Amino acid sequence: MTASSMVVATLLLLSVAACRPSSPVAPTTVTSMPRIPILLLTVDALRADHLSIYGYPRDTAPALSRLAQDAVVFERAFTPCPRTSPAFASLFTGKYPHGHGLRQLGQELAGENLTLAELLAGAGYSSRGFVSSTVLVGQLSGLDQGFDVWDDLLPARERNRENYQRIAADTVASVARELDGGWQPGFLFLHLIDPHGPYAAPEPRSFAPGPAASASGLFEPSLVPEYQRLDQRPRLRDYIDAYDAEISYADAWLGRLLERLRQTDLYDRALIVVTADHGEAFGEHGSWFRHGATLHEESTRVPLLIKLPAGPLEAGPARVTAAVSLVDLLPTLLDYAGVSLPPGLHGSSLRGLLEGTPPSSRAVFSTRTGRTSQWAAHTRQGTLLASDCPGGDPGLCGWRWFDAADADSREGLPAASAPAGTAEKLRGFVTRSRAATLSFAVARRYRPSDRDFVGSFMQEHNRGAAGLDRQQRLALEELGYLQPLADDETRAGRKPSEQVHRR
Ligand SMILES: [Zn+2]
Repeated sequence: MTASSMVVATLLLLSVAACRPSSPVAPTTVTSMPRIPILLLTVDALRADHLSIYGYPRDTAPALSRLAQDAVVFERAFTPCPRTSPAFASLFTGKYPHGHGLRQLGQELAGENLTLAELLAGAGYSSRGFVSSTVLVGQLSGLDQGFDVWDDLLPARERNRENYQRIAADTVASVARELDGGWQPGFLFLHLIDPHGPYAAPEPRSFAPGPAASASGLFEPSLVPEYQRLDQRPRLRDYIDAYDAEISYADAWLGRLLERLRQTDLYDRALIVVTADHGEAFGEHGSWFRHGATLHEESTRVPLLIKLPAGPLEAGPARVTAAVSLVDLLPTLLDYAGVSLPPGLHGSSLRGLLEGTPPSSRAVFSTRTGRTSQWAAHTRQGTLLASDCPGGDPGLCGWRWFDAADADSREGLPAASAPAGTAEKLRGFVTRSRAATLSFAVARRYRPSDRDFVGSFMQEHNRGAAGLDRQQRLALEELGYLQPLADDETRAGRKPSEQVHRR
């Protein structure tokens, strides 16, 4: 740890943000099972196929490879929406976006939703979340609902925009301090942002020429999102090298955390999940260094490792080929925690698959909401895509099938190539999604394009969340984490919530 990150880690001790109250009703029942610590570790924008456990030739993530020796690895796991806050909303509610209402960045998870942390609280769990991106700040996203502690102090401004974040070293240090302080994890949620662009790992790593070496083509620089433009990197391989280095950096800190857990009995006792909110596109289907423009597998397929609480697998590492979704995690975790499932979930417990039930022909789904919404059904064999038809036609158009073994195929195949019944499953999902109505309003807290708001909110938030005194604030300013402020501004004492946009 560098000297600066140690200072920041110390200051982060003070960063416990006030959390919103839980929903009034949490209809859980508790069984007599012992309480199992649950550790949900997530890495933003981590595509599965850049990990060697999924066949990537580069050893980007040795810590995850080691965890996989004790875990069940899901080959075909998908996000319900390849955008950060909608994906986490699905993970925390066990519902697709039409069920929880958070469809766009800047919207808030409505308090009427019942979250994983709330349901676990009903079984006596204490929940702490540690996040690393502006998009997950509690007051901007509502994703802190039900957590006892939601640590969202984000001291570092992104290079090219007014988003704030913190690097894995600092977020993991914050978790470590809680453990040092004697916290016995009930439910721990960790979010690392590092592989999300811009790709600028604090500890760059050189990889031997690998698959990226052949991807050396030049591309049109204007296709690169503004926030991703770094120095002069006109080549695809340079971007991929930098992305892989970010994975490696995040993995190293996950590894340190896991190693610490192994030094106690916590590693064996805990149910440990590692996953991501979405992937990242490298031009496979016309989208460069971003996610969410399409529902192809580079954006929607995510890693998923689950280590069961009984310790290392007696039968050795296991693989599951069935298609599963982030909406399945809430019912899975409640299942192992001994908490009964609330009605209306879209996901199913993965316990059967984890304990050896043969995979089914199930499909899971993803959506991208917009003027023309896109829809996908993901199965063990591949991904079927469709989109809204133009002109208000209620049907679906643009059907294409992408076989799992050839997911990067530019054009894909006609829908008739998909396994029988897949198109019907997708039509059924679209019908349910379009017909869904919510019994509550969904607030928009901000527009991501409103950079002035995001910048000023985060400055205020960081001061408020950290509760910094003058000396501590000056230390952060010196490190470049906070903009210097006039004294009267420092003492203004406005609550961050007073600055939240209501539109
Ligand atoms: Zn994300």
